[in-house]
Amino acid sequence: METVFSGIQPTGELHFGNYLGAIRNWVALQEKYRCFFCIVDYHAMTQNYDPAEMSRRTLDMATDLLSCGIDPDKSVLFVQSSVPEHAELCWILNTVTPFGELARMTQFKDKAERQEDNINVGLFDYPVLQAADILLYKAKLVPVGADQVQHLELAREICRKSTARWGQYFPEPQPLLSSTPKILGLDGQAKMSKSIGNTISLGEPDDVIRKKLATAATDPQRVRRKDPGNPDNCNLHSLHAFFSSQEQVAWVREGCASASIGCLDCKKVLADNVVSHLAPIQQKRQAFAASPGRVEEILREGGRKARAVATETLAEVRKLIGLWS
Ligand code: SF4
Repeated sequence: METVFSGIQPTGELHFGNYLGAIRNWVALQEKYRCFFCIVDYHAMTQNYDPAEMSRRTLDMATDLLSCGIDPDKSVLFVQSSVPEHAELCWILNTVTPFGELARMTQFKDKAERQEDNINVGLFDYPVLQAADILLYKAKLVPVGADQVQHLELAREICRKSTARWGQYFPEPQPLLSSTPKILGLDGQAKMSKSIGNTISLGEPDDVIRKKLATAATDPQRVRRKDPGNPDNCNLHSLHAFFSSQEQVAWVREGCASASIGCLDCKKVLADNVVSHLAPIQQKRQAFAASPGRVEEILREGGRKARAVATETLAEVRKLIGLWS
């Protein structure tokens, strides 16, 4: 079985963007591959955060991942900081990473612009830690969305540099490109993001979900009910593609373009489908919430399994690069 590595930041509860863009795919991947799924709290530290909240956010994220179907009997689910070898390998890889390559990373430039008061070295070094995350488990496959392609390219470059410097050891990771179209936030403008406040969380009550969808942005050309719309310009149409039947998607396309349905009709069908899709996930969430120790136990066991692999890799790497031991 080939190894897959993927990580997610401990942002607290999962939202639709995470679920549709990544986690549904993770659930499918665990049937075919040896998967390491990591809650990347070291990465999250590169942004301003409240230390009193980090631990809760990590547990909430783990609870949501398990509720969505990540199965600890099939995958290794763990927290990055419970395996300190991530940081050690990051340091080692720093010594073969060209400064200029890191300076080119568009995510660094974007984040630096957004957090001018906290442009820390960790933010700059973020892609090297990502390379370490992947290479520590000798993962051959990494599921990536379009915004992560540049970082994975750099991880591949770092892998080649390490081979040139110390000899062949790490396999060069390959992207597993997701076919999921981009899901915008409820404002229809930007990617779903908790900090922008344009998301729906998987744990939200039914009435909140219905209300949020009812007020979500639609095709801006459809000002009045009798105005024909273009579903391709409407983010809610993309959501129908995930949650509604083929017949319903066809009904939306035809009804929107001919103005035979109104946006409220369309949103009601979507809300019904979303609520019934999320019902089993929310039931599992409640079951985990009723036994909080269970999630911690799963993370500890995942940490033990990940660390067993990581210490073995580090022992071999230390020998390869000539460190005293
Ligand atoms: S009818 Fe549906 S797809 Fe068309 S603009 Fe309204 S909400 Fe969007």
